[in-house]
Amino acid sequence: MLLTIDDALALVLERARPLAAEDVAVADAAGRVAAAAATAAVDLPPFDSSAMDGYAVRAGDTPGTLDVVGESAAGSPATRELRAGEAIRISTGAVVPAGADAVVPVERTNGANGAVRVESVVPGENVRPRGGDARAGEPVVAAGTRLGPVQVGALAGAGVTSVRCGRRPRVALLATGTELRRPGEPLAPGEIYESNTVMLAAQVRSANGEPAPLGTVADDEASTRSALGRGLEADVLLTSGGVSVGEHDLVRALLGSLGAEEVFWRVAVKPGKPVAFAVRGETLVFGLPGNPVSSLVGFELFVRPALLALQGLAGAAPAYLPGRLGSALRRNDARDELVRARVEPGGVLSPVSGQESHMIARAAAANALVLVPRGEGELAAGAEVSWLSL
Ligand code: AMP
Ligand code: MG
Repeated sequence: MLLTIDDALALVLERARPLAAEDVAVADAAGRVAAAAATAAVDLPPFDSSAMDGYAVRAGDTPGTLDVVGESAAGSPATRELRAGEAIRISTGAVVPAGADAVVPVERTNGANGAVRVESVVPGENVRPRGGDARAGEPVVAAGTRLGPVQVGALAGAGVTSVRCGRRPRVALLATGTELRRPGEPLAPGEIYESNTVMLAAQVRSANGEPAPLGTVADDEASTRSALGRGLEADVLLTSGGVSVGEHDLVRALLGSLGAEEVFWRVAVKPGKPVAFAVRGETLVFGLPGNPVSSLVGFELFVRPALLALQGLAGAAPAYLPGRLGSALRRNDARDELVRARVEPGGVLSPVSGQESHMIARAAAANALVLVPRGEGELAAGAEVSWLSL
């Protein structure tokens, strides 16, 4: 029995311990994972603030005609407090003056000659209380949260300048294969263009890792061994190709000879069955199969979760979404399958044509990987499935 996707993922996550944390400027922190709760430096808002343009008043004086005795504009508070029978002109975001407890919106007033007629308001109306959004010292983002635009905006608003984040993993990328050429070079007979490390580097960046490309090595022991040796210095080493059962598949044996301990090889998944996972010291090593779609899928199932867990993300496992099949799909009886599909509005998933593991050009039409659990027969059109966004 081959290892299931879930069991293999559990073996990976057990070994993907958070890297050391570092301070990151909030302005640079989008995409990073907070290593500790980040707390507000000030009350937010820092003062009782007006929600409207209008007049600051005492609610008890309303309705009525009040003397306009000053102004509080955003950034320029009134110079004196408000007394009974008075109003102070106020703009949105300005300090509600001492003595006032409500704001009458300008639409509910009628002013002339230093006096204003105001409609009735209740205490607190149109006042945003100091600390109503967050209090100084309160957490704004929890530990283990990935910081997106909203989170960095919230931290900036709360006066935070830097945030403790998990270090970004350095990810060495190595392609193996005598047949591989760089795009732009002419192809001799039997050669193809190397695409996996280009794709993997983009995937690594999207998981906020730092890709360190090591280039391509031919299927010979000496050059593969020395490149693997360099790759093992990184936090994570991703290799492409050479993990299957062919005579020229050298990667696993060479990793072993370099002191890496293999945790698993082969998972009940299609494509990508020959994926290997090993560790040496703190370094995690993923041997991804060379077929480009196998490499794509192996990354999404195992490598992305590992990179996120290394950064300290809480809940680093792949985020499957619910959807429905747009058309029937035959199941594989032995392996769970990740089918390339287009997701249409409403979560309907239409498989793209061309599902073989070398068909990276066909996969380019997809924006989703649909999980088709192994089993007999087919999944009918309309069946509920889980899928990953690409
Ligand atoms: P392998 O896993 O080394 O047996 O390779 C399986 C298939 O993937 C073969 O057809 C290889 O030519 C192809 N392949 C291997 N590495 C790459 C790569 N880096 N880019 C594109 N195709 C590759
Ligand atoms: Mg190969």
